[in-house]
Amino acid sequence: MTAMPSLLCALTCETMPAHPLMVSRPDDGGPKQISAPLGNKVSIPLLQAELRDQIATLLQLIAAVQVVRYPWMTMDGLYRVIVTPDRHATLLANEHLLEAIGQSVAMHVNKKSAFAFPCPHGIVVVLPLDVIRLALAPDTEVERQYGLTTVWHELAHVHALSKQYFANRRLQIPVDSRICPTTIQAWHEFFAERHSHWPGFDTALERHLVDEAWKEFVSEPTRPKAAHLLVRLASAHGRVPTHGDLGTCISAFPQVFASNSLIKQWHACAEALEQACVTIVESGNAPDLVLLNQRLGNLADGLMVPHL
Ligand SMILES: [Zn+2]
Repeated sequence: MTAMPSLLCALTCETMPAHPLMVSRPDDGGPKQISAPLGNKVSIPLLQAELRDQIATLLQLIAAVQVVRYPWMTMDGLYRVIVTPDRHATLLANEHLLEAIGQSVAMHVNKKSAFAFPCPHGIVVVLPLDVIRLALAPDTEVERQYGLTTVWHELAHVHALSKQYFANRRLQIPVDSRICPTTIQAWHEFFAERHSHWPGFDTALERHLVDEAWKEFVSEPTRPKAAHLLVRLASAHGRVPTHGDLGTCISAFPQVFASNSLIKQWHACAEALEQACVTIVESGNAPDLVLLNQRLGNLADGLMVPHL
């Protein structure tokens, strides 16, 4: 099924009304209404009304769990959640918004996954229908976990992206010219992974992605491949349960950390990621990422040394 481009563009899509949720706290005078976390910002351009309602309900419930788990997390910066049957057509329909923030259709076109980006009105989340299908009607437990964690991941992006790109309620591009794009990406993926994990969920995919990035780096040891590996490591550090241990990635990926200096450099990166996380949670502001940028740069240099 394809929808008209205007229905897939964040600026012109039709949104669905949301119903308030009832919550009951025994110590709080009985039941009261709270607003559905995603508000009237969900767009599901599908013809089947029942499927639209099922998806909208599921998304509000998944978002409600996110807000219960992380009460400091806010969806205020969200502009639209678009559930699309055609990811590629949605990319094209939002091309002008992506270009306005220095991205392009080409940067997203070869992927299948959900994504989030800032536009002048707030953060837009694009969720392919295939991903939602996994959460709504999975064939396996692994599919269900992937569906749920993908939605939580994107909602976590909404929080961190809106803090970073809307410092004064206005879209700020670029954020900080001192910080390289890899650092910004590593930070956002780490944060989203840290806040989309559910205890007991499988982490094989994240481990696999690090392995793949490592193999790509070894076969072609360039700085961009090293940077990509670091983004994957930062993501894995967010997803793999660390229990406060900064060295979890070191034991999980011994092939990457072959020397004491690399181990030390990773510890410094993991520490900077954790510090950035504490900053955004405790202050409610975006972290400045200067320290993380410096430390990831050192680790990228360290990875390149044997190949120079
Ligand atoms: Zn992400």
